[in-house]
Amino acid sequence: MAPAVIPPAAVHPGRVRVLKPSAASPSGPVVYWMFRDQRAADNWALLHAATLAARSAAPLAVAFCLSHRFLGAHARQLGFMLRGLRSLSRRLADLGLPFFLLRGDASNVLPALLTRLGASALVADFSPLRPVREWKDALCGRVGADVAIHEVDAHNVVPLWGASDKLEYSARTIRPKIHRLLAEYLVEFPQLPPLAVPWAGEAPPEIDWENLIDEVLREAEEVPEIGWCEPGEEAAMEALMGSKDGFLTKRLKSYESDRNDPLKPKALSGLSPYLHFGHISAQRCALEARKLRNSCPKSVDAFLEELIVRRELADNFCYYQPHYDSLQGAWEWARKTLMDHIADKRDHIYTKEQLENAKTADPLWNASQLEMVHTGKMHGFMRMYWAKKILEWTSRPEEALSVAIYLNDKYEIDGRDPNGYVGCMWSICGVHDQGWKERPVFGKIRYMNYAGCRRKFDVDGYISYVKKLIGETKKRKSDTHSSTIAAKHSKTMNFRGRQT
Ligand SMILES: Cc1cc2nc3c(=O)[nH]c(=O)nc-3n(C[C@H](O)[C@H](O)[C@H](O)COP(=O)(O)OP(=O)(O)OC[C@H]3O[C@@H](n4cnc5c(N)ncnc54)[C@H](O)[C@@H]3O)c2cc1C
Repeated sequence: MAPAVIPPAAVHPGRVRVLKPSAASPSGPVVYWMFRDQRAADNWALLHAATLAARSAAPLAVAFCLSHRFLGAHARQLGFMLRGLRSLSRRLADLGLPFFLLRGDASNVLPALLTRLGASALVADFSPLRPVREWKDALCGRVGADVAIHEVDAHNVVPLWGASDKLEYSARTIRPKIHRLLAEYLVEFPQLPPLAVPWAGEAPPEIDWENLIDEVLREAEEVPEIGWCEPGEEAAMEALMGSKDGFLTKRLKSYESDRNDPLKPKALSGLSPYLHFGHISAQRCALEARKLRNSCPKSVDAFLEELIVRRELADNFCYYQPHYDSLQGAWEWARKTLMDHIADKRDHIYTKEQLENAKTADPLWNASQLEMVHTGKMHGFMRMYWAKKILEWTSRPEEALSVAIYLNDKYEIDGRDPNGYVGCMWSICGVHDQGWKERPVFGKIRYMNYAGCRRKFDVDGYISYVKKLIGETKKRKSDTHSSTIAAKHSKTMNFRGRQT
C-alpha cells in the first residue's frame, strides 16, 4: 500500500511520507533520527520534525545510531563521519536540541529510546539502500502504536517518489520528470521554527568524542583517514562558496571544459564526500549554482545535470531495483551480451589482491587505483576506465562487479553510496547506457581503452601527478605521526611534571 502523505507547514507535503500513523493524538516529544543527512542547516527532515513538534507544542530531539561499520566502513569513512558529527552536535546544542548518539542499528536501539522519552513521532531521513529500508520496516513493527513514523527525502532536490514511481531506464527518461518539478521543489529553505518547548526530558549522555573516535577507528584502521578534506557543514560550505578555493566562487568556469581531465581535479566541485554524508544539501548547491547561470551557463547546466539528474537517477535505481549491486540488476540485453562473451579469451586475468595492490601491466590503471587507495578519491573520469578494465581482466562479470564495488566502498571517501553502485553497474553492466558496437569480452557494453585515454588527456602527466600526490600523502602521514608521538610524549611529561 502506498504510504499516506500529510500536509506539513514548512515542508512540501510531497517530500514527506507517513510510514506509520499514530493511534493517539500527538503530545510527547518528536525525535528526528538523522542518518543520511548529517547537518543542521538546509535539512528538510529536521524542518519537518521541528514543524511537527511546534504543532503539538512538543519538544524535539535528534538521534543518530552508530551502526557497527555500516557497509564495511573503514577508518577513512568513519573518521570523516564522526568528526562531522562532533561539530554537528555543537551546532545542535546551540539550537537547543539534545543529541542522542546511540550505538547499534536503528531498528534495535531506537524503540527503547522512543519509549523512554515517551515520543509521539519519529522523523527519518530517506535512503534507498537495502539495510536502511530493512531497519525502517522493522521499526514500524517495533515501536508503540502511539508513535508515528514519517520519512522525509532531505537528500534529493525532487523527492525520489515524486520524481518517478518506477525504475527509470536512463537519464533521458528521468530528466524531463525531474525538470518538470524543479519549480516546485528547488526553492529556498525556510528558517528552522523556534522551539515551542525547551527540552526538559532525559539528558543525552555526554559524548567523549576523542575516545569514541579512537575506539571506532582502531578496529578499522586498515584504510586510514585522509587529511585533505575537512569534514562538517562549515567545511562543506567553504568547499562550495569559500573565498579561497570555493567551487562556485573560484573554479566554476572550468567545470564545463575541464571536468573530464584527470590532471585538472580542481575543475570538479569535489563535493561528493560532503554530499554523501549529508554535510551539505544538494539543494543548497543547486540554489547557489543557479544564481551564477548568467555568467557561466554551460558550467552551471553541466554541474546541475550531475548534481541533480545523475545523482537522483542513482537513487531511483537503488530504490526501484532490489538487485542494485549485482548482475541480476542489469537489463536483459546487458546480461545476455555479457553471457554471450563469457568464454572470450582475456589478455590478462588478475586476482582481487593483484588489483587491490595495483599490480597490473597497465600503469594508467595502477595510477588510478593508487590515487584511490592513498587519497580516498579517484578522479571521476578515471573511475569509468578503472571499472571497465576490471570487467576486462576478470573471468566473469559477476566477479568484476563484486571486486569493483568492494574496492570502491573500501577506499573511496564517498563510497557506499547509490552513485557508487550505479557507477559500477553503468561501467560493467551497461545500466543507464545503451548497447554499443559488439567486441570481445565487453559484448555490447561500452568500451574504454588506454589509447582513447591518451587521445583525451596527458596520460603520463596523470601517472606522474599521482606519484607526486602519493609522496605528499605519505609525508603528511609521517609528519602527523611524528607530531602525534610528540604530543603524546609531552602529555606524559606534563602528567609526570604534575605528579612530581
Ligand atoms: C565506477 C564508478 C564509481 C563511482 N563511485 C562513486 C561513489 O562511490 N560515490 C559517489 O558519490 N560517486 C561515485 N561515482 C560518480 C562520480 O564519479 C562521482 O560522484 C564524482 O567523481 C565525485 O566528484 P565530484 O563531487 O568532484 O563531482 P562533480 O562532477 O563536481 O559532481 C557534483 C556531484 O554530482 C554527483 N555526480 C557526479 N557525477 C555523477 C555520476 N556519474 N553519477 C551520479 N552522480 C554524479 C555527485 O554527487 C557529485 O558530488 C562513481 C562513478 C563510477 C563510474
